[in-house]
Amino acid sequence: MSMKETHEIQNLDACPRCKFEHAIKTNSPETLSETLLCTRCGTQIRSEVENIEDRLYKRGPKKGTPKPKWRAKYNHFTINPVAQFKLKEKNMIGYQIGPVPTENDLVNFRANVKENTDKLVYARVSYLADESELIGKWVEEDLITGKIKEFDKEPKII
Ligand SMILES: [Zn+2]
Repeated sequence: MSMKETHEIQNLDACPRCKFEHAIKTNSPETLSETLLCTRCGTQIRSEVENIEDRLYKRGPKKGTPKPKWRAKYNHFTINPVAQFKLKEKNMIGYQIGPVPTENDLVNFRANVKENTDKLVYARVSYLADESELIGKWVEEDLITGKIKEFDKEPKII
């Protein structure tokens, strides 16, 4: 990704990897950092301003106000995992979501769900299908029922 002075992530309309249009974007007014988390493919992009310390005058009559010539220098960090997980344990209020970084992690994740099925009410992973009739499509696999279906284009309210 190129280094620009504008807020690149906030300007993204969709996940740059899988084009899902409902990636979660957050930003911090204090650090000017921005993140994009795709709830379909699990891609995470984080943009941090490395020279945030120089943004404001530190002393003198303008102390605490922005320097007019300051320009942000962005550092981008990207994680492209093999899958994204979403699960919910019995008696827990919220869902846990996050990336599954490697194929090996996915194997472990599946095994873990299998061992703990009685404690879970929801356990799904989404990824780009590389077999079956859904090949090339982003799919969601229910690890409790074993069902695989195309990932919903619109996020569900749950
Ligand atoms: Zn994505």
